[in-house]
Amino acid sequence: MSRTDDYISRAVHVLPGGVNSPVRAFKSVGADPLIISKGAGPMLIDVDGREFVDYVMSWGAVILGHNAEPIVNCLSEAVKQGTTYGMTCPAEVEIAELICELMPSIDMIRFVNSGTEATMAAVRLARGATGRDLLVKFEGCYHGHSDSFLVAAGSGVATLSLPASPGVPEKVAGLTLTLPYNDVAGLHETFRKRGDEIACVIVEPIVGNSGFIRPSQEFLPALRELTTEYDTILIFDEVMTGFRVALGGAQGKFGIRPDLTTLGKVIGGGFPVGAYGGRRDLMDMVAPSGPVYQAGTLSGNPLAMKAGLTVLRELVDGSVFKELGKRSRILTDGLAAAAESLEVPLVADHEGGMWGIHFANHPATNFEDAKRGDGQLFARFHRAAIDRGILLAPSPFEAGFISIAHSERLVADTVERLADALAVATRS
Ligand code: PLP
Repeated sequence: MSRTDDYISRAVHVLPGGVNSPVRAFKSVGADPLIISKGAGPMLIDVDGREFVDYVMSWGAVILGHNAEPIVNCLSEAVKQGTTYGMTCPAEVEIAELICELMPSIDMIRFVNSGTEATMAAVRLARGATGRDLLVKFEGCYHGHSDSFLVAAGSGVATLSLPASPGVPEKVAGLTLTLPYNDVAGLHETFRKRGDEIACVIVEPIVGNSGFIRPSQEFLPALRELTTEYDTILIFDEVMTGFRVALGGAQGKFGIRPDLTTLGKVIGGGFPVGAYGGRRDLMDMVAPSGPVYQAGTLSGNPLAMKAGLTVLRELVDGSVFKELGKRSRILTDGLAAAAESLEVPLVADHEGGMWGIHFANHPATNFEDAKRGDGQLFARFHRAAIDRGILLAPSPFEAGFISIAHSERLVADTVERLADALAVATRS
């Protein structure tokens, strides 16, 4: 029995589904989970010594590459100073100042321990500030696993939805209105009917959780206009896109200023970190400045803050994103060309260090489009890619990520291996 099989058989007895986060089970591609013992630059190495070029990068969290030297250096010193104080440390102030400088919509910020915590707290703040209860989200956007966000995707004009997960009370789910992404007309209709009850709209400004979906030119400006008109709080969930698609996040790229922003992944330097921040008048309502309560034993953890600060300092030279964009383009153009020569319908897109494909003839503009992609072909492609040492996210509804450790040469080599994987997947 391989070490992987041994760990999997033990894991399923003690971890639900053998994992600590569902998509790691590789169920949707009909493959076995990986048991990883080491990350090195762009590579992951499993307990049996198999090496994979990693395009998951801890779901976007890792942007300098695994065990990047600046982080290793910073942490080996930092760990000697203690791992948690439960008190404020200098790195918290320094990273807060840097994020406020790089994302001008953020006047103040609060650090938490995950993206889920960040979005949950941002919604509470929006409700506290507006005295309203309704929340608008878009189908196929993922904002973490708190109750308000686990709502079945509806279609057309917003409907009061049923819970998508047992355990989410209907009354809670009923406060979440869902709309198709990029649906400007639906948005106008919803606001016309219920705008005065809507506390906030939360949106992935580029979607990464239905595969990669770009906002239309009108969508984000319309969102900004309508939310301003109705005194609704606009929350950009940049847990994935923040410091991933551009230095100032998607909001910098599109020139839209949200009221609140949620962050996570990259800003933690590989540690469990999230954050929410934005307008000073809103953030001043957070305890202990104001009455909206939110707290955390390990929030602002010194190791996490130092690792995050180290990463952001490596990124401030904006050329990193140009470089990441160039490499993502080599990958997506290469994949599109390979698909064309095989006459396989495939669209590929990217922004900075985030990219995605859909096995379809047209770019997806919303979740319904994304669901029309060929999932069976994706599963076969994924397994063939794994056999060729390439790790893609094990679901067609996830984006891909690259880091600065993925050299142009490695990416070009990946394209060759993936072209081969696609040929095999198409034939089988
Ligand atoms: N928001 C977005 C856009 C995400 O992509 C994710 C996770 O992938 C979250 C929130 C939740 O973050 P976490 O998994 O750290 O709780």
